[in-house]
Amino acid sequence: MLEPLRLMCVLAHPDDESLGNGGTLAKCADEGIELSLVTATRGQRGWKGPKDEDPGPDALGALRTAELEAAAAVLGISRLWVLDHMDGALDQADPQRVTLEIAQRIREAKPQVVLTFGPDGIYGHPDHIAISQFATAALVRAAAPDDALGGEPHAVSKLYYAAVTRELIDAYEAVFGVFDKHVDGRGRRAFAWPDWAVTSRIDARRFGGTVWEAIREHRSQLRDYQKLAELPEEQWLRMFGEQTYYRAFSLVNGGRGVEDDLFAGLREGRHG
Ligand SMILES: [Zn+2]
Repeated sequence: MLEPLRLMCVLAHPDDESLGNGGTLAKCADEGIELSLVTATRGQRGWKGPKDEDPGPDALGALRTAELEAAAAVLGISRLWVLDHMDGALDQADPQRVTLEIAQRIREAKPQVVLTFGPDGIYGHPDHIAISQFATAALVRAAAPDDALGGEPHAVSKLYYAAVTRELIDAYEAVFGVFDKHVDGRGRRAFAWPDWAVTSRIDARRFGGTVWEAIREHRSQLRDYQKLAELPEEQWLRMFGEQTYYRAFSLVNGGRGVEDDLFAGLREGRHG
């Protein structure tokens, strides 16, 4: 019996899975690929309503965890782990602890492919950058002999970073305006990967309905995302029709050809 194909996403906040990777995840689920998700924070500081109505980090974290569970179900994610790190402070978490938590879940779920943010964190978000580093380090820990982790070592075959293109940033900015995240007194804007660095383009056009359904489960965030509900189809497709990645690590590297499948090189001898 061949092992089933498995994809694990390692992300920072509830909604990273739907907004950034929803099309890829829905497509993989449709192909029968087993999906798991590790989300490092509960989005405890992501209140979008009036300041005096902010329920506080504990209550908001519980609410957003429930929203994430609902979105994960829509996308076909069968295993979800929400870790308890503080939203907005992931880069100050203990690296030994976070990489252990992720590596343990890698050993448990045994994904062949792992997906996370790139070193740019899309727009320099420190949590996204931190989880990219933790996920990458956790891959190494999971594969090495390490009794502290429990379970058997597991070597992931491919690691991908989300790599946004200029076209995608333009499409987002046309809807939401230019987003300038302030970190340590300096602005950080979205960083476009050059086209030649995009190794993998996933056609997600068929899954727009599922993606919107998943985004909509993040009800506490809809103040920001409601605009998406009225988007003309052409604009929606510019934002969600294709998801682009950079293959950061691979044991089955197929050269310079652009992949249309994150499991390229891993399906040989399988059906579908
Ligand atoms: Zn995020």
